[in-house]
Amino acid sequence: MKIVTIIGARPQFIKTAAVSKAIAEHPLIQEIVIHTGQHFDENMSAVFFEEMGIEKPAYHLAIHSFSHGAMTGKMLEKIEKILLIEKPDWVLVYGDTNSTLAGALAAKKQQIKVAHVEAGLRSFNMRMPEEINRVMTDRISDILFCPTQHAVDNLEREGFSSLDCKIVKTGDVMLDAALHFAPLQRKPAVGLPDEFILSTFHRAENTDDSNALKNIAKALDEISLNTPVVCPLHPRTKAKLTENGYDFTKSPIIFIDPVGYLEMIWLLSHAVLVMTDSGGLQKEAYFFQKYCITLRKETEWIELVQQGVNFLTGTDTALIVTTYRQQRNKIADNFNTPLYGDGKAAEKIVRELRKI
Ligand code: UDP
Repeated sequence: MKIVTIIGARPQFIKTAAVSKAIAEHPLIQEIVIHTGQHFDENMSAVFFEEMGIEKPAYHLAIHSFSHGAMTGKMLEKIEKILLIEKPDWVLVYGDTNSTLAGALAAKKQQIKVAHVEAGLRSFNMRMPEEINRVMTDRISDILFCPTQHAVDNLEREGFSSLDCKIVKTGDVMLDAALHFAPLQRKPAVGLPDEFILSTFHRAENTDDSNALKNIAKALDEISLNTPVVCPLHPRTKAKLTENGYDFTKSPIIFIDPVGYLEMIWLLSHAVLVMTDSGGLQKEAYFFQKYCITLRKETEWIELVQQGVNFLTGTDTALIVTTYRQQRNKIADNFNTPLYGDGKAAEKIVRELRKI
């Protein structure tokens, strides 16, 4: 069996680390990796391949820094050419990026079967580029690997049970990765306080809206005066803060460059609280038993909110600060429900692919 895996952005490198490992255990499956190049900085891409032992991509398309349409179009064209040569049995796509949609579309138009890892997630906010990518990719996938029961329910509500596709609840491959790499975690080589909040934000809805961006920065500035905030800074956020006149030299926030996964899970293990607009980090906060303040109005990981461990504040400065005050000293409780499976999602995915 031949699988072509399409990845391009940071969270996809982490997910593929788990799945490619499970694929490699089957000598009769050949995996060919296409890296679209969506994320390209050393610390947003190469570091993950080195640290997590991900095989070097057979194809690197170097497509980045274009508008959504141009990026997706260029990927579609190049991936199509590769699929015509490789003729795989499956194309495997992850999550909700432009690389996900381009890969799925290129495959489906050639009648190649599409498997979508992290299917069925919904924010129900069609203004998010990620939501558009998810909905479209799900619709043309042949097998939909759902990380949670909510994801399965979403698909059933949308009528997927009557379509010609298979829905499989697998658990979350990010839990597989977290469990596997946790023992290898590494302290970042920068000065860090003993007690700190871990924060990341980079969603377009927060960085492209000046008010939202300033509100988040103001809240983190204020919280920093009480509990230090460590923020591995996404390149887009850095550019947008600079554009909006944020004075890094006067900021009390401890900004650091983006870190690799091993350093990230050290930060997760040692943080007192997580504040983020990242999808992946919300779940990792749960894996490492940390409360999470989500800097968005909605989340795809609604079970965390229902569990009482994740709090949606949007970008309202006062609400972010009040929620921080309520959560900062809380004893970790309610983190034991296996919301994301048993850490064997990748094995289940490979088993399913072999069945068909
Ligand atoms: N991450 C990382 N280094 C960083 C910031 C994030 O390794 O400096 C990891 C994080 O632990 C998670 C993934 O990247 O596993 C999340 O990616 P991101 O927030 O870019 O995307 P999202 O999950 O929101 O799609």
